[in-house]
Amino acid sequence: MDLNYTPEELAFADEVRQWVRANLPPETRDRVLQHQHLSKEEQVEWQRRLHARGWGGPRWPKEYGGPGWTSVQQHLFDEVLSEEGAPQALPFGLSMIGPVLMAYGSQKQKDYYLPRILRMDDWWCQGFSEPGSGSDLASLRMKAELDGDEWVLNGQKTWTTLGQYANMIFLLARTDPAAKKQQGISMLLADMSTPGITLRPIITVDGAHEVNEVFFDNVRVPKENIVGQPGMGWSYAKFLLSHERTNIARIGRSKAELTRLKKIATEEKVEGVPLMETPGFREKVAAVEIELMALELTNLRMIAAEQSGQAPGAEANMLKIKGSEIQQTLTELMMEAVGPYALPYNPEAREHGWKKGEPIGPEYAAPLAPDYFNYRKVTIYGGSNEIQRNILAKAVLGL
Ligand SMILES: Cc1cc2nc3c(=O)[nH]c(=O)nc-3n(C[C@H](O)[C@H](O)[C@H](O)COP(=O)(O)OP(=O)(O)OC[C@H]3O[C@@H](n4cnc5c(N)ncnc54)[C@H](O)[C@@H]3O)c2cc1C
Repeated sequence: MDLNYTPEELAFADEVRQWVRANLPPETRDRVLQHQHLSKEEQVEWQRRLHARGWGGPRWPKEYGGPGWTSVQQHLFDEVLSEEGAPQALPFGLSMIGPVLMAYGSQKQKDYYLPRILRMDDWWCQGFSEPGSGSDLASLRMKAELDGDEWVLNGQKTWTTLGQYANMIFLLARTDPAAKKQQGISMLLADMSTPGITLRPIITVDGAHEVNEVFFDNVRVPKENIVGQPGMGWSYAKFLLSHERTNIARIGRSKAELTRLKKIATEEKVEGVPLMETPGFREKVAAVEIELMALELTNLRMIAAEQSGQAPGAEANMLKIKGSEIQQTLTELMMEAVGPYALPYNPEAREHGWKKGEPIGPEYAAPLAPDYFNYRKVTIYGGSNEIQRNILAKAVLGL
């Protein structure tokens, strides 16, 4: 196994870099690098530019409008985009419902929804979790009953990320109450403007509106909005989650954050000496850098195995655990680097159009605490790390 990039792969990375530099709006880049929330319009605009270049669905096969890249090209693409401060692609359409529709959707669903995902004509959200049904997702209680040509949905979803922007939701509901837990669950698609759907914001510990509760009260959706076969939703959900977990390690982003951490720690001084040159802090940065390099190599090993035809196994769970822990460590070290300046934190520092006023301490300190609080989420979502460890214990150690 050769883990070095070929000259062609390096040339590809360079082509992506040049294109991003020429096409990423500078104000969007600045907002990404300053860790501010992007507006819906900015996110959509960036996706449309990528799509116009043919790069809207980097992991999609050619058949559905993707570039048909190798896994190495996909990895390099992610890495360059993160380095250059491009917005993270939203997973809900591209990495979640898109691949599910490709594998299990009807021809009509594929023809209609897949091009709309690439152009981002639809903003999708994920309606899986319910109060009391997160890790134990199969205990979900939302009901869908067939009434003539329509499904009637009743129940509640929660933690629905960016549901406030979404016009479409894919969800799991119980269509056969008599069947055992995992059976009797179906996957359905619903237009968020359907009467009976109510969305309520959840404001998280960082002061942001990122997640929501969504209530369904006699919501009628067309019969054809079921994905695949009734009662097969659990298998489709597992397929979807394996895609979600592989992309969740965010290696490219963590590499960019590590560079940012070093920059901050070089500007911050302890008795005139840059923090980065003090042995204690240097050691902590080195430790996380080593972890990140190891994670990247694990990812490359997984890519190499994939290219030689082996299906990804427990590596996806490992990537999720390590990737999320590294992301959290980086936010912790940045807080530590600015010391007391991280305390007077202003959640608005992450909002679009924030009027800076007089910053308390260096400008880069303002979003660090909201980021730190926000990143508590990464070890919870996409299947909590405790659950990932349970899977590894069973699948790898046979416990
Ligand atoms: C910011 C954020 C965004 C999210 N976005 C979405 C979204 O868009 N759509 C969506 O459907 N869901 C979303 N989720 C929900 C997410 O998938 C769940 O929060 C997650 O699966 C955990 O479920 P829970 O919150 O119900 O916690 P619980 O399942 O109640 O778990 C509580 C704690 O107990 C631990 N635990 C539970 N069971 C076990 C076990 N068997 N062994 C060991 N430990 C265990 C967990 O690890 C956790 O620490 C989001 C969550 C967050 C925080």
